[in-house]
Amino acid sequence: MVDIKCLICNESLEIPPYIDPENYDGQLYCRACQLLWDVKLVESKVRKYKVAEKQTKPRPSNITIVSSMPEHEDSKKAEGDIKGN
Ligand SMILES: [Zn+2]
Repeated sequence: MVDIKCLICNESLEIPPYIDPENYDGQLYCRACQLLWDVKLVESKVRKYKVAEKQTKPRPSNITIVSSMPEHEDSKKAEGDIKGN
């Protein structure tokens, strides 16, 4: 039986019985700190172990990419360089 400790809280990760420790690539859940871990097991050894990225899709409306700064004539030069609200 593979025992994987959570790097955050040092509790053992919950490994469901259907997981084959000889060949598993997926996510394990820590009940203690409720963190998802991206784990890969090969031959009962941990080959990959990292915090799983949250599976939330990026929101295009929330991302603002400014490739070029528009220069307005009415923008005054401020030494404080205050941008963004
Ligand atoms: Zn934990």
